[in-house]
Amino acid sequence: MPAGVYIHVPFCKSRCSYCDFATDVYRNDEAVERYLRAVLTELEDRKPKTGDRLSLPDPNSVLSPQSSVLPAGRGRSDSVHSPQPSVLPARGGLVDTIYFGGGTPSLLNPGQLERILKAVHERFEISEDREITVEMNPATVTLGQLEQFRAMGVNRASFGVQTFNDRSLKLLARGHDADDARSTYKTLRKAGFENISFDLIAGLPHQTIDDWKANLEEAVSMSPEHISLYLLEIHEATPLAEQVRSGRQPLPDEELAAEMYELMLERLEKAGYRQYEISNFCKEGFESRHNLKYWDLDPVIGFGVSSHSFDGGRRWVNVRDTMAYVRTVECGDSPVVEIEELPEKQLKAEFTFLKLRLTKGLDLKEYRSRFGSDLTEEFGPEIAEFRELGLVELTESDVMRLTQKGRLYSNEVFGVFV
Ligand code: SF4
Repeated sequence: MPAGVYIHVPFCKSRCSYCDFATDVYRNDEAVERYLRAVLTELEDRKPKTGDRLSLPDPNSVLSPQSSVLPAGRGRSDSVHSPQPSVLPARGGLVDTIYFGGGTPSLLNPGQLERILKAVHERFEISEDREITVEMNPATVTLGQLEQFRAMGVNRASFGVQTFNDRSLKLLARGHDADDARSTYKTLRKAGFENISFDLIAGLPHQTIDDWKANLEEAVSMSPEHISLYLLEIHEATPLAEQVRSGRQPLPDEELAAEMYELMLERLEKAGYRQYEISNFCKEGFESRHNLKYWDLDPVIGFGVSSHSFDGGRRWVNVRDTMAYVRTVECGDSPVVEIEELPEKQLKAEFTFLKLRLTKGLDLKEYRSRFGSDLTEEFGPEIAEFRELGLVELTESDVMRLTQKGRLYSNEVFGVFV
């Protein structure tokens, strides 16, 4: 089973008001260079050469802990780490997807992206038909840069549109307007991108059904190959959470968001998109191969601050603070702060609810051959009840999957298997 590689690029032009990701505001090129050197070191799985550190500028002038815009604390220590044993898999494993996520990886210049790609190619065997995705935000790229990304093998753009409503973009402090999204999309096409995915967010404060319809219509008219839907979540310690707490913004309306979801199912199906996961839709053959690895519980190895990895049995997580990550790697220590050997009970639970997220469902034969037991026996009464309620169906080919109604109540269904 080929693995996927994930590289986290934790820099953005500005901080969106709802954002809870591990990302810092792009302050200067030195900060980015220093971070990239750390990622290269992690990728190479080596101790940094003396020169790596001696040639660096004063850390406090570039990426000081105070400069981090990340909220402190995340339920685990982000500052002091004892060295962990290396968990990186052996060199040379086969990889068929590479994903640059963030943050805003499209802030990297072609030379920077190329260095990372080269290191990934040196560490792993990369399959001929690889999918290489870069997350991009409106107004962060130029035609020349995108053409060079294409020339070095980037063949998929995950494009953070979020909404075409300028009022909402302002409220979210996205740092771009809808026209930026429109023109960046044209530039992506001009540069030769034939596989573009839009991210859209539903359930925004003040967003009406008509706003959402307008979003969908515009997205469909632009005809990207893939669309991902996110429902707005309010995370503690974000400016938006504070605005909601103080009453300046309303809480997202869950019923309205569910209505938006149903509207999206209808409209995208009519426009020729196939839903292949609870929140993901694509034209034929344009599923995100990288993200499918997460839902299929296939190995994905992450590099960079806050990246998560899974090798089929163990999961490990890198430190969440950018400065702590850089310093730890520079000291020759492992940035891994958590390693977990997943007990079989948890693997079974994850296999079940991740597969149920996919419209193809969970192959009960695969479950039996993987775990040597029968899911329909382990959860007989619960599955019977879900079937009676019309949330789950069993097919003749021994597959269990959510019905359309079940997708609306997926959390209730998943909760039983966890
Ligand atoms: S662009 Fe994405 S990662 Fe960056 S601040 Fe906004 S939501 Fe967060």
